[in-house]
Amino acid sequence: MKKNKCEHIISKVQPGSIAEEMEIEPGDVLLSINDEPIEDVFDYRYMIKDEYVVVLIRKPYGEEWELEIEKDYDDDLGLEFENDLMSEYKSCSNKCLFCFIDQMPPGMRDTLYFKDDDSRLSFLQGNYITMTNMTEKDIDRIIKMQLAPINISVQSTEPELRCKLLHNRFAGDKLKFIDKLYEGHVEMNGQIVCCKNINDGEHLRRTIEDLSKYLPFMRSVSAVPAGITKYRDDLPKLDLYTKEEAGAVIDLIESYQQGFYEKYGLHFIHASDEWYILAERDFPEEERYDGYIQLENGVGMMRLLWTEFEEALHRQIAEDGYEQLKKSLSQTITIATGKLAAPMLSKIAAQTMEAFPGLQIYVKQIRNDFFGETITVSGLITAQDLIAQLQEERENGRELGSYLLIPSNMLRTGEEVFLDDLTITDVEQALSMHVIVADTGGEDLLRAMLFHETMKRNNENYVYVKAYEEQEEGYEE
Ligand code: SF4
Repeated sequence: MKKNKCEHIISKVQPGSIAEEMEIEPGDVLLSINDEPIEDVFDYRYMIKDEYVVVLIRKPYGEEWELEIEKDYDDDLGLEFENDLMSEYKSCSNKCLFCFIDQMPPGMRDTLYFKDDDSRLSFLQGNYITMTNMTEKDIDRIIKMQLAPINISVQSTEPELRCKLLHNRFAGDKLKFIDKLYEGHVEMNGQIVCCKNINDGEHLRRTIEDLSKYLPFMRSVSAVPAGITKYRDDLPKLDLYTKEEAGAVIDLIESYQQGFYEKYGLHFIHASDEWYILAERDFPEEERYDGYIQLENGVGMMRLLWTEFEEALHRQIAEDGYEQLKKSLSQTITIATGKLAAPMLSKIAAQTMEAFPGLQIYVKQIRNDFFGETITVSGLITAQDLIAQLQEERENGRELGSYLLIPSNMLRTGEEVFLDDLTITDVEQALSMHVIVADTGGEDLLRAMLFHETMKRNNENYVYVKAYEEQEEGYEE
């Protein structure tokens, strides 16, 4: 039977859910809710928010079931669909000066070149959108459904400058959608990708001041420096920020924070961690991150990592088994990371070694040869750079130990595959080391450093977290 765009194949039914109770099964097709067709995930989420819903399902053998469901208003049905968005992904209609995708080397897997700019991904995954491919109707729908937060890549509030940055003649006009969302009381976050001498300085000041008018519905705005790879030959020239220039951006941003906080209880404008590292300055104290609203944008990651690590280390030291654990640890381990996080990880390694003197932790800062040295985040490190540079270290006489800790953001989400399609197994074989993947939190990092020996893999699945939990239970006994 031909499926139309408002029919959605169910891929999973959560155990114990309402859907399971109603005997809905993977492979069934959702046809409508309350007699209304479901265009996409926005429709779906909106329609199921009720105490009484009528769900029309088609079974694989063609029979249609009309299911009347009584539930609590906010209860989910427990359905997952073949396509998370329940419709096609919307691609962007821009050609931004700083677009990272345009600066990627050729020959990578196709999905990495897809330029999404989809408000549904903003809601579902926190992606930032430019709104240039949206219509008044799309905005009305967000307001009606109160889908929030909507994360907006603003870049500049000066219409002409925004058009230039996004290389889209409609980009300035679309700024009016922010007014609409504000009037509709939709929560938003903003982002400004700073391009040197283009939208910084007085332009940045104006953007901050203009966006602050949307407080409190706009909860935060981050400023991040544009990422510049070595593949920009056919693209407009963009320069890197120097230490002093990064300091000037921080000064500008910080000059606004206290004032906003006094008025709205939010510091509102935040400089990403990269600015502080570039400027060689201390990160702001935890309170200034307003609950880490823009963590995914690299705002406050380092502060949070340190805070979590310190707390976890103090807890570990206070535990009864501390002395026993201390005696048992006498290995060398290596942590691989990017230039950005290397100083913080070195500080963390030093603290850990002080508390556990038998442990030797070597932090290796991996240079990004794949994208170019100017790319400093660990999430863009490839396995080939990792292998080559650690092999070189070993050839130069460095003791790496048997365990290599890497942050989970070096891998494709939920998989064992690096950006260059090499796998953890490839790395383990090339280096003759066990790879331990630590989640990016400070507590996870400490666990990985202390309990690496029990974080092992079986042949099929990567089981480091489970192994840790088993070890921890055993340890408490
Ligand atoms: S919106 Fe701009 S930065 Fe984002 S994918 Fe499109 S061109 Fe690239």
